[in-house]
Formats: sequence, structure tokens, C-alpha cells
Amino acid sequence: MVIRKNEAIILRSRDYSESDRLITFFTKSNGRLTGIAKGARRSKKRFVHSLEQLSYVTIAYADRSTSGLVRIDASELRSAFTGLRGDLARLGYASLSCEMVLEISPERQSNSALFSLLLQYLHQLEQGADPENTSLLFQVRMLSLSGYAPNFQTCVFCGQEAYSGKNWYVSIAEGGLLCTAHPGIHGTYPLSVGTVMLLRRAQQTSLTKLWRLRFDRKSREGCRVFLLDLIRHHLEKDLKSLKLLRQIGALNAAG
Ligand SMILES: [Zn+2]
Repeated sequence: MVIRKNEAIILRSRDYSESDRLITFFTKSNGRLTGIAKGARRSKKRFVHSLEQLSYVTIAYADRSTSGLVRIDASELRSAFTGLRGDLARLGYASLSCEMVLEISPERQSNSALFSLLLQYLHQLEQGADPENTSLLFQVRMLSLSGYAPNFQTCVFCGQEAYSGKNWYVSIAEGGLLCTAHPGIHGTYPLSVGTVMLLRRAQQTSLTKLWRLRFDRKSREGCRVFLLDLIRHHLEKDLKSLKLLRQIGALNAAG
């Protein structure tokens, strides 16, 4: 049995038995883990607010093997992100990001860059950043850090560089851009060259500069549906958190 202590973000928290809770959390150095918090339903004192979804914590857990559930011994709250929990749109986008990380990250596979991205994203939402803009930046970067980055550099068919030309298309099936020389390709999404440049910067710039990038109205329309469809394609499932965002009208144009 190995005892570990790690920074983590709680991705999902649910009742497990009469007294226990089942917690899935994303650690800074050991990736995604799931564990049982014994007595967490009965003894609120032991885990005060530190096992709720979104919470940023220092978690102590006992791990007996290289797979399966861990035993959560303690969880100390570093930030509950209370500033975003009162706003339905921010809460919706934050929950969506937790669900995406939960589904896209393989169990026990370290990805500290993705951890930093999620943590900074939650801080951005709490500090009042535009929730949709920030969410689009998060999604582009999350795909890159998870090994699913689309090719936004050149046409995947003919290699033409995407520096000029008015219209570009992106194909989920082909994994990247297509120029206008290949008509009749189904299932493509139109993107302006400006949007292509923006997506490329969002893949490549440093994490601290990422949040300064801005999707204008047209770029949002182009990317909102395409990015969610791309993520759905890789996860092979629908995301439950989209329901809340749709109910409050935050994703009007999203499919
Ligand atoms: Zn081409």
C-alpha cells in the first residue's frame, strides 16, 4: 500500500453506499484516479466541501495496485471556486470542462500540462473572463494536450499552407483543414482564414498568453459547433453537461 499526496481537481462526486462517496479526481502528477471516501456521506466534517465537483484540493490517498480504486484518506480545500458557482453559465462551462477531462484523460496517465490548463481555466471563469470565449480556448488546447490536435497548418489533401485564401474547411473525419480545391467533401465546417490563425495560436501560444486570445462573433459561430462535434467524435459519446448549457441558452447555436 502506497500513501500519496497530490494536488487535484475533483471531476465527479457521487454517493456510493449509505455512508461512502465515489470520487473521480484529476491529479497534477498521477493523472485521473477514482477512489472511495469512506464515511464521507456521514461525516461532513472530515471532508468539508473538499470532495465537490470543481474543487481544487490537496488529496491524500492510499493506492494498493496499479489499477482500480484508491482509498481517499483526506482532502484539504485549496479553492472551491465559489466565485463561479453562483453563475449558471459559468458553472455550466466549468462542469463541462470537468466532464471533458474526465472522459478524455486515460486513467493514471500523468498529464500535468492538462492539469494546469484546467486549473487556470477555472480561475479565469471565477475572475470574470467571458465564459464562452474561455471555453473555446480551453477546448482547443485540451484537444492538443490530449493528442487529438487537428491539423490547422495545411490542407490535409494537397498540403497548401493556410496563410491566405478566403475560405477553408475543417473535416473531423480527415483530422484537419481542407482548401477549396476539393469540392464535394461531406461533413466539413467552413472557417475563415482569420479563425484558422486564431485556432493555430490557441494550440501553440504559452498558457499564460492563451487567455488573451479573442474569438469574435463570426469565429465563435464557426468553432462552437465544430469543436463540440470534434470532441464528441473522439469521446464517442454525448456530454451530459451540455444539457444545462442548452437549457440556459448558452449554446443556442450548438448541435
Ligand atoms: Zn487542398
